Amino acid sequence: MKALTIVPGSLGSATVRELPEPPPSDGSVLVRTRAIGICGTDAEIALEGYGWPPPGVEYLVLGHESIGEVVDAPPESGLVAGDLVVGIVRRPDPEPCPACAAGAWDMCRHGRYLERGIKELHGYGSERYRVDPEFAIRVDPRLAETGVLLEPASVVAKAWDQVDRIGTRGWFEPRIALVTGAGPIGLLAALLATQRGLETHVVDIVRQGLKPALVDDLRATYHSSAITELEGLGADVIIECTGMGEVIVGALRAAAPNAIVALAGLSNRPGGMEVDLERANRRMALGNAVIFGTVNSGRRHYQQAAEALVAAPPGWLSRLITRRVGVSNWPDALQRRPDDIKVIVEFDAA
Ligand code: BGC
Repeated sequence: MKALTIVPGSLGSATVRELPEPPPSDGSVLVRTRAIGICGTDAEIALEGYGWPPPGVEYLVLGHESIGEVVDAPPESGLVAGDLVVGIVRRPDPEPCPACAAGAWDMCRHGRYLERGIKELHGYGSERYRVDPEFAIRVDPRLAETGVLLEPASVVAKAWDQVDRIGTRGWFEPRIALVTGAGPIGLLAALLATQRGLETHVVDIVRQGLKPALVDDLRATYHSSAITELEGLGADVIIECTGMGEVIVGALRAAAPNAIVALAGLSNRPGGMEVDLERANRRMALGNAVIFGTVNSGRRHYQQAAEALVAAPPGWLSRLITRRVGVSNWPDALQRRPDDIKVIVEFDAA
């Protein structure tokens, strides 16, 4: 079968490789892949050498965002042939840390967790893959190919889940949400914000085109102004999706007292910026601010995300998919184009 493989750090190594059928030891559920989503992490694997192949193997099968169709599943799995499923990315530390042992692998403490398509496990980017039922999420057939957005949506659902939990620390009646960055993560964060009934603001440097239109269609407000112009917005919740210093500092200035700020973005730019941490501390301490980092997602976040996607405005999710690439020229998907939002690699129907 065909698989999308790459040697981390070597864009030129991205190729289609013939691999044997997935071994039964990978899991009892056999899935035919329909599509793989490409994200910033995949680009980092290709360009910057993030990502680790399985021990003893030189290449990694890419693909941690996926949508596929069950070909075969044991009766006790609750899955049947034809079901649409998404595979969970992370696997617990083989010698479980306390968090992994409790099933909270997204909070792994040792850092020895595994991630399909990222860290020491092959991904879902092959014509067929196997997975254990506990790591497969069934999605509503109405989502069809847009189910490929479930994994990034689960990362966002985790951020919101944490915001809700942190909010129970005291009085918290959020009204305004600010999302920084209108890539797939930012747009999905905005979707979940509007589903919570929040007045939602999204800021991004792009001035026109699909991103502002997608935000408008959520009945949210799009700002292409500098983040500094949002000072005083009074955001109760901020989902930061850029990882850029200036944006983070600007977002904090747009926060209301008692704000909860999720750091959900990563940036790898060289340099960085200097911050007057004592001034920031004063502002945060006197304003009861919570700033937290969030990565990955647990099973319940996939389920929350599945509900959020089904409730998206009709047609909205498919507009997030701006480019479709076939398996034979899949390395094109790793080359970012200015108007890309989500690029997917489509597998042929068998
Ligand atoms: C994935 C997460 C993963 C993270 C770090 C992200 O792109 O969505 O599931 O934990 O990369 O490897």
